[in-house]
Amino acid sequence: STRIMWFRQDLRVGDNPALRAAAMAGKVIPLFIQEDEDAGDLALGGASKVWLHHALCSLNQSLDGHLLVRAGPALPILEELIEATNAEGVYWNRCYEPWRMARDTEIKAVLKARGTHCESHNGNLLWEPWEVNKKDGTPYHVYTKFYRRGCLEAHAPRSPLPKPEELTFACEKQEASAIDELKLLPRRDWGETIGKSWEISEDGAHKRLSDFLEEGLHGYKDDRNYPRKPNVSRLSPYLHFGQISPHQVWAAVHHHDIDRDADHFLSELGWREFSYNLLYNNPDLPSTNLQKKFDAFPWREDQTALKAWKKGLTGFPVVDAGMRELWQTGYMHNRLRMVVGSFLVKNLMLDWRLGERHFWNCLFDADLANNSAGWQWIAGCGADAAPYFRIFNPILQGEKFDPDGTYTRHYVPELAHMPDKFLFRPWEAPELVLKEAGVTLGETYPKPIVDVKASRERALEAFKSLSEGT
Ligand code: FAD
Repeated sequence: STRIMWFRQDLRVGDNPALRAAAMAGKVIPLFIQEDEDAGDLALGGASKVWLHHALCSLNQSLDGHLLVRAGPALPILEELIEATNAEGVYWNRCYEPWRMARDTEIKAVLKARGTHCESHNGNLLWEPWEVNKKDGTPYHVYTKFYRRGCLEAHAPRSPLPKPEELTFACEKQEASAIDELKLLPRRDWGETIGKSWEISEDGAHKRLSDFLEEGLHGYKDDRNYPRKPNVSRLSPYLHFGQISPHQVWAAVHHHDIDRDADHFLSELGWREFSYNLLYNNPDLPSTNLQKKFDAFPWREDQTALKAWKKGLTGFPVVDAGMRELWQTGYMHNRLRMVVGSFLVKNLMLDWRLGERHFWNCLFDADLANNSAGWQWIAGCGADAAPYFRIFNPILQGEKFDPDGTYTRHYVPELAHMPDKFLFRPWEAPELVLKEAGVTLGETYPKPIVDVKASRERALEAFKSLSEGT
């Protein structure tokens, strides 16, 4: 019999519970649907589309060229395919964006009513969001308790599954150009530039993981904060698109001693689970402050400042380095996400949702749960968030976490010859130093667009003006 395997955020063959189940039940039609029409405002951003294009090409190769691709609303596409192929079942791994959950529930109901078997599996999370609640049945708001008590004490994550032993297809090989017709790649050469440093495939994900386990895990807890060090895994886009599963990562780490570094790394996977839990329990997390008192926050409107931030032209070298890393590589180191985020919402006092949207468009790992939880955390309005008054100082952050300036000089080459002493505060450099470094502020590199101290005071005043209620 024929089964449709509907790939979504699980673009892999290994540890894919839905694919295994479909393959065991019969011949498989592997299908991917470009779902922007169902997603509406949450359609994929530009960088995600670039990643998706390459991920689909790679998945298609793993499936010996049999991947069917379609674009449009999922339900009629599935109905048509079932009609045309007499497929008896549709299999998928669950996704957790609120629009997808609602849509999948509807699809399940419609297909079941017409007699088609529907089966969903967990391929993307270590703990299902509805599984982890406090004893009284309400969701956790504090991360440590969520992770240590709610997750770890409940059960260990399941072991990863092997690839299907046998995979036979119920469809012909597809035209190689079908994926190109989804038109996921941008016309500009930006797509090529940002994709350069990544191997966007299931194998690439596993290589990244083993390189990280060899070179990055040892020292992770402390050195994960330094953007030039090799101590972060850069697995986030692979995890988002499911080219590797969190179960595979979890199991691979467990082949090592669980020392403080490994424990800390696993706890970051725990933050991913926490974000998904928050999104599940707060479907409007991407658009609405979790702490209601922030609804009255007097955000400023300033298109010029927003543009300078997006382009990495704020005049604060470490902020500009982070924003340019994002634009040039589709990734930004976590420390920088916090620094540029704090700069946007606190020093510039611009609404976190503007930052969230920009990240959504530019990040390879753009993920509705992690991105909105990350922005709410940095803005201070989320669950277990950084307190609002914790304002990152963009000068000191640079000096502390990029002490020899390698990261900043790489992304802000205009300042390549600035001595360390003034690299993060070029406006304080004497004329002679600027001249020797070939820097003319306001010409070769911008003057700072805000005063750090005054903007910090302004943000704190605004915060104080909020009523204390939640
Ligand atoms: P590692 O340090 O190697 O961590 C391993 C994995 O753990 C990551 O791949 C990720 O899946 C998970 N993880 C790590 N830190 C976090 C975290 N703080 N929250 C949730 N999961 C985490 N992450 C995304 O995947 N997509 C996003 O769109 C996203 N937007 C963010 C926006 C802001 C403002 C902030 C502050 C953080 C955001 N993060 C996001 C979280 C975090 O910055 C990235 O997951 C991390 O930098 C990815 O790099 P890595 O894989 O090298 O991380």
